[in-house]
Amino acid sequence: MPVSESVSQPMNNADLLDRSRKAVWHPCTQMKRHERLPLVPLSHGEGAWLVDCDGKRYLDAVSSWWVNLFGHGEPRIKAAIKAQLDTLEHAMLAGFTHRPVVELSERLAARTGLGHAFYGSDGASAVEIALKMSAHYWRNHDRPEKHRYLHLGGSYHGETLGALGVTDVPVFRDAYAPLLRGAIAVPSPDWRQAAPGETPEQVALRAALALEAAFERHPGEIAALILEPLVQGAAGMAMYHPAYLARARALCDRYHAHLIADEIAVGFGRTGTFLACEQAAVRPDFVCLSKGITGGFLPLAAVLTTDTVYDAFYDDDVARGFLHSHSYTGNPLACAAALAVLDIFDSDDVLARNRERAARWSTRFAPLAAHPRARHFRHLGMIWAFDVADAPAGFASAYFAAALARGVLLRPIGGTIYFMPPYTMNDDEAGMLADAALEALDAALAGSAEGNDVAVA
Ligand SMILES: *Cc1c(COP(=O)(O)O)cnc(C)c1O
Repeated sequence: MPVSESVSQPMNNADLLDRSRKAVWHPCTQMKRHERLPLVPLSHGEGAWLVDCDGKRYLDAVSSWWVNLFGHGEPRIKAAIKAQLDTLEHAMLAGFTHRPVVELSERLAARTGLGHAFYGSDGASAVEIALKMSAHYWRNHDRPEKHRYLHLGGSYHGETLGALGVTDVPVFRDAYAPLLRGAIAVPSPDWRQAAPGETPEQVALRAALALEAAFERHPGEIAALILEPLVQGAAGMAMYHPAYLARARALCDRYHAHLIADEIAVGFGRTGTFLACEQAAVRPDFVCLSKGITGGFLPLAAVLTTDTVYDAFYDDDVARGFLHSHSYTGNPLACAAALAVLDIFDSDDVLARNRERAARWSTRFAPLAAHPRARHFRHLGMIWAFDVADAPAGFASAYFAAALARGVLLRPIGGTIYFMPPYTMNDDEAGMLADAALEALDAALAGSAEGNDVAVA
């Protein structure tokens, strides 16, 4: 049988699930759970939808872990990758260069004001790069004692050891605690912690005072503060006031530390501006980008930084250079996909259209905020979230199953339900999402759904 025929044969689903459980170690998953909760065998994606092998459709309301900005199968990104495929699929970037990586670097510089782009393959590698560059910068300036990092309570920066060291999510961290270098956690400016009568801005300023105190307690030791600007995703879409970013920038300047903005989840328009930092008119020393950068087509990450940082490495001495690499650094196909994403931002006026969409969708989502168990309903740009009061044990998993049964992909984080939909979802789909999310909430609370594990992301 020709290969193309065997690939397009309808899969035997039960067989596929079984083979997947045996051969594929799925991410962020207790595999034993799949004894009871079947995997969903996907056939294809189209627009905001994923379609399984039986033809059942699921609205991808979390943009497949926050990466598919324009849904599935966006034809312009596909075409860009196909065109690049005919010239250069890959070449090592040490000693060589090519048009896609040069153009992408220039265009990201124009978007961010940070003129030097270093590439990795996923978010965690971008965080590693930024952390290493920051400490190495201080070493090159004869300040080797500045090698510690500040991070926020509830932070998430990825799961390699360096990134995990500045991550504060116990379920990801605890098993590896002995392997991690101690970073210094400072209080999150999450506005849900407001005391009665306190505004989000006051919460932010209070957290900034604690940040200042941390700098004071560690004089001359801090290389950088790393943070997720405006929204701490894995903490459960914790949102905070931009005043915190402005204070953090000022404090980093005063104490001679870098500000690393992990925009892996929030960059590319997710919070309403291209970078979340723009809402505080803050320019970080490092910006980490990944997730939405190729619209979900290929793995790619970029770390953008300043002339000042770049110049500290520019020398006749090899050892003062940034001797870091990943095999796929600057992969031309991934860069071509990212260029197509930037083209779409320009040609479709994505940020302006998202503002209109968000206003309409917020109206549709309003009934969720009115649910008697909903607390702290929050919205920023293309993110909506709320917490379920007294969510029972196993709620996240029960909700995931209840939503899936209603044709919607939603993965609560603990007791937090959130939407991070593709920007291209239409208004009918938004309405369907609102209805299904509400029904799933009642079903999950009534315990009618399967499962009792805690889904964590
Ligand atoms: C997802 C994420 C990461 C890690 O990215 P990976 O590609 O999963 O390694 C880092 N930081 C933030 C804020 C993220 O949301």
